[in-house]
Amino acid sequence: MNTIAVDQHGYYGRFGGAYIPEMLYPNVEELRNCYLEMMQEEQFQRDFQNLLRDYVGRPTPLYLAKRLSEHYGVTIYLKREDLNHTGAHKINNTIGQILLAQRLGKKRIIAETGAGQHGVATATVCALMGVECIVYMGAVDIERQAPNVARMRMLGAEVRPANSGSKTLKDATNEAIRDWINNPTDTHYIIGSVVGPHPYPDMVARFQSVISEEMRSQLEEHTGRDYPDAVIACVGGGSNAAGAYYHFLNDERVRLIAVEAAGLGIDTGESAATSVLGTEGIIHGSRTLLMQTDDGQIIEPYSISAGLDYPGIGPLHAHLIASGRAEAISVTDEKALESALHLSRTEGIIPALETAHAFAALETMEYNADDVLVVCLSGRGDKDLEAFMKYLDQKK
Ligand SMILES: *Cc1c(COP(=O)(O)O)cnc(C)c1O
Repeated sequence: MNTIAVDQHGYYGRFGGAYIPEMLYPNVEELRNCYLEMMQEEQFQRDFQNLLRDYVGRPTPLYLAKRLSEHYGVTIYLKREDLNHTGAHKINNTIGQILLAQRLGKKRIIAETGAGQHGVATATVCALMGVECIVYMGAVDIERQAPNVARMRMLGAEVRPANSGSKTLKDATNEAIRDWINNPTDTHYIIGSVVGPHPYPDMVARFQSVISEEMRSQLEEHTGRDYPDAVIACVGGGSNAAGAYYHFLNDERVRLIAVEAAGLGIDTGESAATSVLGTEGIIHGSRTLLMQTDDGQIIEPYSISAGLDYPGIGPLHAHLIASGRAEAISVTDEKALESALHLSRTEGIIPALETAHAFAALETMEYNADDVLVVCLSGRGDKDLEAFMKYLDQKK
């Protein structure tokens, strides 16, 4: 029994729910009524599994990182979500949601994106299914993630800039919600993480849960034991972490390590470490921990990584952290860059900047020498080469 499962109103403990404007009520209600039933249908499962296998390239390998393990004096496996088609875990969710959208008869898809990975994954499945795709992206992110903007355009998606606030992920999300309110009948909003009103956090976690499902049988094969001592994942909204934790949520033998972006440092005012700096509030339709002023104004988040600078976290993670089930670690830009370089040169794998935060946690977390750790390698770093080159040049 999954005691951490969401309840029927979409709550994990006191976090979650569906705080939505009246205009969106029919859409969200429609989704809420059908998502579990549809996901359990045989035809849906067959289509989903076939696409994950033949189009995405699953199962992704669980790789024993020998040189990294030697360096830290512990056994480290990498769950290679970077090897998915489009280069990150995001596609697991967009495949699931596009199949749902088709079943609901929706002809138009909208999405928000930060680093552009979710935008690319959405543009990809829209091209695959031949439907219209509009991706909202903060103007700042459009600048710093140019390769992904080009990929979305190549795939036929329209990228619309969000020019309000910090011009990043939060603002793109606001724009997408505004679009949905204006186009409630023909449009499905593919949210890219375990955030937003119920049922999104649960639905996205279920689509991503393939990550820990595969991990279990792969660990069994590699180590003779179908669970690790700890799962480490970076948390923006928390979808790769949710997928990597999912089948271990109620297994107290498995430590869950959630790694957030500290930006320039927790105390600098330029950070995105929501679990440390956040207080309870409502953002984008759900009650969760978020960075806000005493009178409830959102504090603009900052991280070098466009996929982690979100002022909230998914309600599942707020619950896991508040209840002590998950341990939160925050990692600065500098430490993440260092870790990206280290992983590249120890294992020949260039991680996404987001993912690099998870690796930096290996520096500060505690473990025993005979532990088995799994790091969710959420995505590859091609999109971040410009930031990496800047770092290399400065180091000289
Ligand atoms: C989007 C992204 C993240 C952050 O999103 P989550 O929902 O927290 O997983 C992390 N890593 C990569 C590679 C991403 O593209």
